[in-house]
Amino acid sequence: MKNRRHMITKYIEINTRLCEACWKCVEICPNGVLGKIDFFGHHHVKIEHAEACKGCKKCVRACPNEAIFYLGKPGSLEVKREKAVNLRL
Ligand code: SF4
Ligand code: SF4
Repeated sequence: MKNRRHMITKYIEINTRLCEACWKCVEICPNGVLGKIDFFGHHHVKIEHAEACKGCKKCVRACPNEAIFYLGKPGSLEVKREKAVNLRL
């Protein structure tokens, strides 16, 4: 498994396998959370400042490939369900 610290904030998770490096999410994020991995053979978004994510979902709506998932507010049922799924992986 890839290093999940680069894929998740309190509010969103990125599946980099679905990312086609269009950078729409990077450009639309108002808080500078997202950055680029952009070198030979590796082109996908990464999370640079997870602590700055406010859960506004602009990146989720901007992604044409549904590569970014909203996890719900911290402590919500959606988050608990997500954690339960991850534990089973
Ligand atoms: S949810 Fe909002 S603040 Fe968080 S990464 Fe997406 S656009 Fe940025
Ligand atoms: S908007 Fe989606 S496809 Fe485009 S860079 Fe972001 S995660 Fe990747």
